Amino acid sequence: MEIKMMNLEVTCPSCNVKKNISIPEALFKQKKFGTIKIQVPKGSVCQEHHFIVFVNNLGFIRGYDKIDMQIKAPIQRTEETNNLTLNDWIQMFGLYGIFNLIHAKIFNYPVYIINAKTDEGISKMINRIIDDFLPITYRGTSSITFIKETNYEKIKLEEKYILLMDSLKNILHTPWNQKLRFEFEEEIITQALKLSNDKEQFKLIQKYILKFIKQVEDIKKILDNVKKIDERDLINQLSNNTMTPKISIYKLTLIKEFINRRLSPKLIKKITNKAIEFMKLL
Ligand SMILES: [Zn+2]
Repeated sequence: MEIKMMNLEVTCPSCNVKKNISIPEALFKQKKFGTIKIQVPKGSVCQEHHFIVFVNNLGFIRGYDKIDMQIKAPIQRTEETNNLTLNDWIQMFGLYGIFNLIHAKIFNYPVYIINAKTDEGISKMINRIIDDFLPITYRGTSSITFIKETNYEKIKLEEKYILLMDSLKNILHTPWNQKLRFEFEEEIITQALKLSNDKEQFKLIQKYILKFIKQVEDIKKILDNVKKIDERDLINQLSNNTMTPKISIYKLTLIKEFINRRLSPKLIKKITNKAIEFMKLL
């Protein structure tokens, strides 16, 4: 089926250059999608910037987000591989799409990609590579499903807590807050892209995620042994126990999300926040 496209005038949030981009019209007749995030690659609107446009279901632009990362030119592939490299992934899903995919993988949200032309071999390969980012105990969860359906109207959102993308790199539905920033995911990909070997890149991503899960486990140990704990005290105790610098509130939020999605939502309830409690009293 031919997809009917419409024009949308967007403005680069960095240099204010305006230009029309073309997007599937059917995206905006679907109330089910809510705010859609459209990736605008460098060279599409202006020559220098890569950004995200937030568009509501009536086709109105609700905001922009800048992506400041630089992508290095071709990297060296390891001999035997016809494997997909990180750069191939970025080609397929866009940088912002990769942040979303990695977030979904770590925090256990199923992913659906519609209008996919991907054959089964590639689909398996993508799932295998991304699964390898996680330690063995967490593998096989939150897989990516490629759906051949091209008609957006036929897509039903049976479940709220999924990530839904299309093969045009648009992000149609996210299970998390619209305002979620992908600082962690951006850091991982930025560091990986500094390496020039595809295997090393994937290893580094794995290393980052393992380190994060180690922090989750250390936090869980503390929580298992207390009735309640203030989040500041929790951060201090983690730092003391592990002799590492204090983690940020943002990092703690991620750790809480991981525990909530993969371990035990009950454990999270043990974490209190003195500052907020105090505000409530006023
Ligand atoms: Zn620009």
